Amino acid sequence: MNLDDEVTKIFGVGDVQARRLKKLGIETISDLLFYYPISYQDRRKITPIANLKIGNFYVVRARINSIRNIRVWRHRMGITEAEIEDKTGKTKVIWFNQPFLVRNLKAGDNVLLFGKFIKKGICYLTSPEYEKIKGQVLHAGRIIPVYRLTKGITAKMMRYFVDQALKKCCYQVKEYLPREVLKQEKLMELQEMLKNIHFPVNEKLERAARERASFDELFLIQLSVISNRKRWQEREAFPIKYQKETAAKFYKSLPYKFTKDQQKATLEIINDLQKGHPMNRLLNGDVGSGKTAVAMFALVQIFKNGFQSAFMVPTEVLASQHFKTLSENLKIFPLSIAILTRSERKIASFKISRENSRVKIEKLSKKKILEKIESREIDIVIGTHALIQEGVKFKNLAFVIVDEQHRFGVKQRAMLQKKNIKVPHLLSMTATPIPRTLALTVYGDLDISILKEMPPGRKKIKTKLITAREHYKAFQAIKKEVKKGRQVFVICPLIEEPITLPEKRRLEARSVKLEYKKLKKDVFPKFKIGMLHGKMKAAEKEKIMEDFKNKKIDILVSTSVVEVGVDIPNASLMMIENAERFGLAQIHQFRGRVGRSKYQSYCFLFTESESEETLERLRAVAQSADGFALAEKDLEIRGPGEIYGVRQSGLPDLKIASLTDLIMIKRTKKRAKEILEKDPGLEKHPNLAEKLKGFETSIHLE
Ligand code: ADP
Ligand code: MG
Repeated sequence: MNLDDEVTKIFGVGDVQARRLKKLGIETISDLLFYYPISYQDRRKITPIANLKIGNFYVVRARINSIRNIRVWRHRMGITEAEIEDKTGKTKVIWFNQPFLVRNLKAGDNVLLFGKFIKKGICYLTSPEYEKIKGQVLHAGRIIPVYRLTKGITAKMMRYFVDQALKKCCYQVKEYLPREVLKQEKLMELQEMLKNIHFPVNEKLERAARERASFDELFLIQLSVISNRKRWQEREAFPIKYQKETAAKFYKSLPYKFTKDQQKATLEIINDLQKGHPMNRLLNGDVGSGKTAVAMFALVQIFKNGFQSAFMVPTEVLASQHFKTLSENLKIFPLSIAILTRSERKIASFKISRENSRVKIEKLSKKKILEKIESREIDIVIGTHALIQEGVKFKNLAFVIVDEQHRFGVKQRAMLQKKNIKVPHLLSMTATPIPRTLALTVYGDLDISILKEMPPGRKKIKTKLITAREHYKAFQAIKKEVKKGRQVFVICPLIEEPITLPEKRRLEARSVKLEYKKLKKDVFPKFKIGMLHGKMKAAEKEKIMEDFKNKKIDILVSTSVVEVGVDIPNASLMMIENAERFGLAQIHQFRGRVGRSKYQSYCFLFTESESEETLERLRAVAQSADGFALAEKDLEIRGPGEIYGVRQSGLPDLKIASLTDLIMIKRTKKRAKEILEKDPGLEKHPNLAEKLKGFETSIHLE
């Protein structure tokens, strides 16, 4: 048996089982070895029958006195009943619907049983896991691995399969960590680790095994991220000269002064742009922190250097919003801006005379605009990600801004390189606060500028936790705001009401469709109510957002689809239903959609949950306006998965390591750097190079 062999080589794995294992991502023997348990059960302690107490789980070591199947017609099920005995006493064992057991277990067999001891009329062990004792035992009397399973694969099977793989193939696994790293970090050898991560001899070895596994996961991420970063930095880009006068002119044209963080970010950007190598920077700041303003500064610099820029956004609404902002703010420069989306094809060009500047807006065909981009008559192109990625030809594209996409990864960057010998500088912008630990790992190939300080004069959003009894108060507040001419968001976790039994209703979450109906018919029949959710067509969604922007809708009932960047300054109240269903950082982002004007804004977090833990979490959002702190907290509680689009970005769910483990992150980063400095191509570490390649393929980074 070899590591690359299919799992069917394992005794007991046929085609059916192989298909089931595949669901867990296990196809080869090697996959099985690296399928780590999610936790362990200590089944070392064997309890004498005389000491069993009702309601607890026990490992019992006993002899079977008798065993037989009984049919219980009333309940339409078969039960298998056994009597077992050890030196201290006798008791009964009952299994349900497993008639085949009697073929396997016979009177006189010595067994280890693991199960719950209960009393229903009589006392018995209920449906225990069992194992006949012959030689070494696998399932009890030791620390037992607990695996994530799938239908048709039992815990016992899994342990049995892994045990075989370990016995037959573990010795073939090649150590890939460099000797010096193993030594410096005092890590367990790979083969030892595999044995102990599945079947640890004791807690100490279990911890050592998990430490090694955890190190490896983060180490590989670091290697991948650092080497990708190096590769990107070795490319050539157009060097951009800092145009001081233009910068001064730009600053002067603004109706406000840049915050300290904005100033720092512009300096960092200018510094990057001057190098002949491409920038890859993330501008991270809450909604309204002034990212677009910083982006405009850079756009003007690129223009003054004679190059083109592309501004990529996720939706058409955002595209037209940016087109408007840029057209208004950059009109003192003789440049031209195009918007190229499905619904809008326009060019804004600025004619500047001594007295004033005039904006000319022309509608053009897509073909015309594409021609003008290729001939460099257009300086800045705004469009959705898709449109620009589809292969617009630029004369000399030097700068790309990516707005509100979590991560502009290696793959997307490769796309930009296709048509240009020189690659453009990249600036990604996101309002999702990136916690420090993620910045060091997943986002490690980016330089990050943070806008923490908000522009002055903004009113703090008043956030309140609302319980079931106070729901009517929220409605009163909504009414008041709408009467004042403001607008309101109502966020629900679901689109439709799930079908449930009436008595379970209270446990279910609210849905957009039902809330919409309720508000429209019963609560606010006089107000204009709109509805928005992910199942609507793109065009429909855009229409609703447009209507909301144009104040044709007073109250918008929506799922979490409302885009982060959309600017509705007139919205002053947000009500979040079933707030407990959302992450803290997510709630923080939702509420960033109000409070974007001079009006006092409110955010109501409504929950029916009575769990102290949930309330504690929600109170934290109510009290804190620090998106970064909330993000850290979220990461701890909910893990990185969906929140940061980590999965879209290609990073797998880590099996062992934690992305909140700052110490481990730093350790791995340090070692990865050292190795890559001495051996950038990993030529001296072929096993590691191979492992890294496998890792990168598995996470689709390349
Ligand atoms: P973001 O893109 O981060 O959401 P914007 O750049 O769109 O933020 O800025 C939000 C609003 O704040 C805009 O109306 C902008 O004109 C204004 N703004 C930006 N920077 C400042 C500043 N330093 N002082 C005052 N207002 C600012
Ligand atoms: Mg923005």
